[in-house]
Amino acid sequence: MTILDNVTSESATPNTDAAIELESGHVARNYAPLPVVAHSAEGAWITDVDGRRYLDCLAAYSAVNFGHRNPEITAAAHAQLDTMTLASRAFHSDRLGPFAAALAKLADKDMVLPMNSGAEAVESGIKVARKWGAEVKGVPDGQANIVVAENNFHGRTISIVSFSSDPVARGGFGPYTPGFRKVPFGDADAVAAAIDENTVAVLLEPIQGEAGIIVPPDDFLPRVREICTANNVLMIADEIQSGLARTGYTFACQRWGVVPDVYLLGKALGGAVVPLSAVVANADVLGVLNPGEHGSTFGGNPLATAVGTTVVKMLATGEFQARSRELGERLHAGLRALIGQGVLAVRGFGLWAGVDVDPDLGTGKELSMALARRGILVKDTHGSTLRFAPPIVITAEEIDWAVGQLAEALAAV
Ligand SMILES: *Cc1c(COP(=O)(O)O)cnc(C)c1O
Repeated sequence: MTILDNVTSESATPNTDAAIELESGHVARNYAPLPVVAHSAEGAWITDVDGRRYLDCLAAYSAVNFGHRNPEITAAAHAQLDTMTLASRAFHSDRLGPFAAALAKLADKDMVLPMNSGAEAVESGIKVARKWGAEVKGVPDGQANIVVAENNFHGRTISIVSFSSDPVARGGFGPYTPGFRKVPFGDADAVAAAIDENTVAVLLEPIQGEAGIIVPPDDFLPRVREICTANNVLMIADEIQSGLARTGYTFACQRWGVVPDVYLLGKALGGAVVPLSAVVANADVLGVLNPGEHGSTFGGNPLATAVGTTVVKMLATGEFQARSRELGERLHAGLRALIGQGVLAVRGFGLWAGVDVDPDLGTGKELSMALARRGILVKDTHGSTLRFAPPIVITAEEIDWAVGQLAEALAAV
């Protein structure tokens, strides 16, 4: 099937309609999905239950960086499925050590705390920072504060939504966890001003993903690094969406030559097979945890770590980072050419682009629908911003096709 065959017609959608009806009747309505029912996928393409094919330009919010069913990753998963899948941390597993060693080396750190979801990695990072504050920095227990950015997205737990700026994410979920101070993203002076003797960490996304792929000023992260070092405060980079080749680098912080004290990783780490997240830092930070103080039944399980080791091996070659950088230039050039033709602004690096569309042409959701009808899956973030984050296995030809479809969709409204 060629790309052009993919343009959807007004074909019947019996399986789609039935699947959506069943799902709507029984699944909590915590998402508002596009009316596309995924059935199978390979590489950068998803096929729905009625046989239509879509170019996946969301990649499950960067969890599918290496493509759907990447052969190297699925081979590792299959082999591990036939060997052992779950041990719990009550025993050692011969998969955990190699994963932790490889991931630590990739991040140039020496310790890894394995967890499952991204939100768990963030929670774990917060706990580690507070414990580090109490034990190493000498902050009185219960007095620690953490500086975060406005419009952040770090997940959905009670503590994390406690420092969200999004009324939808917070509303009705109080009482909230105290101990967080919000400053404008990109304002290093505000970070410095928010720090006091009880500050244990500054927690940031290097590029804010859910906020609309917001790139900070070039001096922001280097200055935050200096401020953290000068004040004995941990710099924690939430690279759950920005990391692992998405921006053309292993970690987005590298674009600015910045090395945080703590990396929070997730999404692509699980190779689009299993949830796998991690806190990665040196032993002077992660070493504050003792047996019984933190844990997870599934964290670091053999199946997930077999997959994760393969992901790290693939990242260690730099191939995906280079591909994301090269193809990202093509994607950004194509999208920037649409500025003035319905596009107001394009942000991001590598295969990660936030595209602000003229609100007069419709909401992000409406445009996402129009693109889905043309065989392209994207997700709106806020208002009239579309996020393009295709699997890094996407080809140059497919990128050009996607940009062309966006141009036509904008011209059609
Ligand atoms: C997705 C995301 C999370 C949360 O990850 P989950 O696996 O959905 O819990 C945290 N931080 C960032 C930056 C994310 O993009």
